[in-house]
Amino acid sequence: MLLTITSTTPPATDLGYLLYKNPARVQSFDLPFGAAHVFYPEATAERCTAALLLDIDPVHLVRGRQENVEAYVSDRPYVASSLMSVALAQVFGTALTGQSRERPELAATPLPLTARLAVVHARGGESVLHRLFAPLGYAVTAESHPLDAAFPEWGESNFFTVTLTGTVRLVTLLTHLYVLLPVLDDEKHYWIGDDEVAKLLRRGEGWLAQHPERALITQRYLRRRLLVRTAMARLAEEDAPDPDVVESEFDETDTETDAPLSLHNQRLAAVLAILKEAGAQRVLDLGCGEGRLLKLLLAERTFAQIVGMDVSLRALEIAAKRLRLDDLPPTQRARIELLHGSLIYRDARLAGFDAAAVVEVIEHLDPARLAAFERVIFAFAQPKLIVLTTPNVEYNVRYPGLASGELRHRDHRFEWTRAEFQNWAQDVADRFGYAVRFLPVGAEDPEVGAPTQMAVFTR
Ligand code: SAH
Repeated sequence: MLLTITSTTPPATDLGYLLYKNPARVQSFDLPFGAAHVFYPEATAERCTAALLLDIDPVHLVRGRQENVEAYVSDRPYVASSLMSVALAQVFGTALTGQSRERPELAATPLPLTARLAVVHARGGESVLHRLFAPLGYAVTAESHPLDAAFPEWGESNFFTVTLTGTVRLVTLLTHLYVLLPVLDDEKHYWIGDDEVAKLLRRGEGWLAQHPERALITQRYLRRRLLVRTAMARLAEEDAPDPDVVESEFDETDTETDAPLSLHNQRLAAVLAILKEAGAQRVLDLGCGEGRLLKLLLAERTFAQIVGMDVSLRALEIAAKRLRLDDLPPTQRARIELLHGSLIYRDARLAGFDAAAVVEVIEHLDPARLAAFERVIFAFAQPKLIVLTTPNVEYNVRYPGLASGELRHRDHRFEWTRAEFQNWAQDVADRFGYAVRFLPVGAEDPEVGAPTQMAVFTR
């Protein structure tokens, strides 16, 4: 996350007095979510640019500081957002008061300034950028970025490199950025602070009341307050159980009756048996969640290299605890690695493995992203063996707790019949040069089959 501010009013290095940061030095600041660095890539009398670089620690975002619970990260380290706002307030606090001890007149004078944001996420697209900044007198240019260069068919993203040029007081520019960056982004990071309404009114003094988009700005800025409560409530739910003794929220055990071995454990045992039988040594657990399978894999010496990957940092943290990664002897520790990543993005770290387990994951993917998932796993990662499980929706009628048509988990995007799953898996196998066979997991019902269905792909 990088913000630069350029002044061309000679002597341009006076920008340093306004920001209270000496152009000759690099300064670093500790923030609750990482580090901020201020430096000047150019500092001449004609042109001076101050850079604020945020180096965000994604793990910090979910660890400890409860107000950041919704920041499951994904794009957080890279885009300007409310984190940039927090950093602006911390690092340029004095400049945000509009005062300058050394150059009071300059601080009070509108100057030609250019702000450039390396990446911003603009919810609602480019037009929102213009609607927010143009009425404040900025010339706005926005360069859009493709969603993923590897998948051009996905089109453009809502991520932009933005340049704002205007003749304004420095404090005005900083204030506009402070208020409008979180408004632009409008998601994922929420903090509970002092009275947000008062803060907005104070920061908005002199410009917000006349802004044609004041309704949008106010609504988006303050919406966070409501969401905080939701986030806190969810955290309370998620934090309660001790992961070592309570079943994960992803287990559907509460819908089963009198099963001696929970369905989830049967599933894991089945996957483990197949991986062992195949003689796999380097194995991936994709969408490893809270690390139950990883724990079983670690207990088996034959698995020399074990990598778990998940998109949820929170799940990875629980997995790290469950596996007691910090306490493992070095030889054990060297066998296992947890990766943060998404299965819908091509990832070089997944190449070169013997086998991959994908247990109860695909039903969490948006159907529109399945094609990307297929390419990432079957075309790019390409392990020799892939063991994949998913619910058999036909079996749902056997769960008295489920209403008709209801899926087993609130995050499931779909659940397939046996025919749907087998058609999909066969088609994938054909397209990517794998053979596939199918196995039931859990007690098979004569009419509706087993609760879980498994496909074993080999090439
Ligand atoms: N395999 C684990 C967890 C299953 S729950 C087990 O059997 O216990 C589904 C998991 O998939 C969750 O941990 C979720 O965070 C993860 N997931 C969902 N979408 C993902 C994606 N695009 N990339 C990686 N993991 C994803």
